Amino acid sequence: MSKALVCSCEDVTVEDIRHAVAKGFRDVESVKRFTGFGTGVCQGKSCLSAVAALLAREKAQKPEGIVPFTPRPPLYPTELSLLASFPVDESKPPVGGVPQELDTFPATLRPEGAVPTRARVVIVGGGVLGLALAYNLSLRGETDVVVLERGYLCAGASGRNGGGVRMQWGTAANIELAKRSIELMGRFARDLGINVWLRQGGYLFMAKTKPVAERLERNAALHNKHGVPTRMLTLDEARDVVPGLSLEGAQAVSYNPEDGVIFPWPFLWGYANACRKAGIKVETYTRVTGFELSDGLVRKVKTDRGDISCDTVVLASGAWSPEVARLAGVSLPNEPHRHEILSTEPLKPFLGPLVSVLDSGLYFSQSMRGEIVGGMGDPLEPAGLNMGSTLRFVSRFARALTEQLPNLGHVKVLRQWAGCYDVTPDNSPILGRTPGLENLLQLSGFVGHGFMMAPAVAERMAQWMTTGASDELFTRFNLRRFQEGKLEREDMIIG
Ligand SMILES: Cc1cc2nc3c(=O)[nH]c(=O)nc-3n(C[C@H](O)[C@H](O)[C@H](O)COP(=O)(O)OP(=O)(O)OC[C@H]3O[C@@H](n4cnc5c(N)ncnc54)[C@H](O)[C@@H]3O)c2cc1C
Repeated sequence: MSKALVCSCEDVTVEDIRHAVAKGFRDVESVKRFTGFGTGVCQGKSCLSAVAALLAREKAQKPEGIVPFTPRPPLYPTELSLLASFPVDESKPPVGGVPQELDTFPATLRPEGAVPTRARVVIVGGGVLGLALAYNLSLRGETDVVVLERGYLCAGASGRNGGGVRMQWGTAANIELAKRSIELMGRFARDLGINVWLRQGGYLFMAKTKPVAERLERNAALHNKHGVPTRMLTLDEARDVVPGLSLEGAQAVSYNPEDGVIFPWPFLWGYANACRKAGIKVETYTRVTGFELSDGLVRKVKTDRGDISCDTVVLASGAWSPEVARLAGVSLPNEPHRHEILSTEPLKPFLGPLVSVLDSGLYFSQSMRGEIVGGMGDPLEPAGLNMGSTLRFVSRFARALTEQLPNLGHVKVLRQWAGCYDVTPDNSPILGRTPGLENLLQLSGFVGHGFMMAPAVAERMAQWMTTGASDELFTRFNLRRFQEGKLEREDMIIG
């Protein structure tokens, strides 16, 4: 059998590209994600033009729709120790990035033809929450649903996150939701026929200050009450779990062996495939531009491919939710905050759990491909839709990571990127009906943990929507709580 390579770093062949096209991935960004081409050491320098030419030859895309993928720094693989040596002024906020007006998808990628003129349910946002909800609605027989996504699948936070899934939370609601989600994730391959690389290597939280140590201890007791086997480790035990981990300054360590990591992208493809098979329309490169309202209801969703009249609209637009809600005259308290993240060259498996220093927001794990994937919050990051990458981040992260794992100094960073957390004032989501617009349902505000909550929340929301049975989740986390001062604070936020 001949093997014509287009991407030698990631071993992607001509046949792999054709297979991606046959599966419906027809633009460069989507093909990149489906095949992995362009994510290796050369970062697309040798394969991007070959894939573009192949897509043109296969007539996978209109010629004007064949546009390069977003380049990812660093230009060349660069050692963590070198990156750690760049000076950072911690007293000044980060600068740079991609202004929102430049972060648009070329109109040439917009599909020809109009969207359906009517649907019972319109979901705005094709991230994990919108797609998981659509899938769960289909399981309950509701297939008159359209999902509208302004970009490719995985364009939002759902395609940019760390893939951490954990039951170690600070509230009973989140512990129970995460438990259910991880159970559903374990069945995803069987239920949806796609491998999501769930690896339950645990989560190890480290606290370096007394208040955070007390928080870990308090929360571990709560986890145990909910059947989650979190335990506080001695420093020697922590060293056994992660050989080579520096525990200097650690005041407490908690560990749940049942937490883990997943590979986010296949979830979106799996949910989208299952939706399409059930007859649900998932419309990519289709932007919602407004709403037609009357008598306290949304009557129509306006898009750049025509209007859709509907009975119910679900706002699942992640960090863009406040912007989309404003189109309906609704004000949401969420704020987008950039979070940067990176991936190194692959290493032999050595790191069991995802490790997080809760005080600084540093986290890192090892993917099934062997890469170290990690990020760190920046306390000075201003609010705003910014998905640009900075040298400041890689430098801060490299320093923090090599403090915890000094042996990694020689390891090279292959690529960095960023996404936005969708942050609410109490770090809990906004769910349920919108006061004053009863058929506009909220499904946003998942901060930095929406991926792991999606399967369970979507299951509950589909049940609530199709049966009309009351569910406390949609009152407890309703938008009203901000006016009523009934905040639902979650304190186990990384970053
Ligand atoms: C760096 C980083 C690391 C993270 N790590 C984790 C983690 O380890 N574990 C975890 O569980 N979570 C993590 N998260 C959070 C998680 O990724 C999000 O909570 C989750 O993906 C949110 O899903 P969503 O569907 O609400 O939003 P998104 O995935 O952002 O989807 C919303 C979609 O709406 C679309 N949209 C916006 N405006 C419009 C419009 N006008 N018309 C049509 N479509 C529109 C956007 O293009 C987008 O695709 C992380 C996030 C980031 C940024």
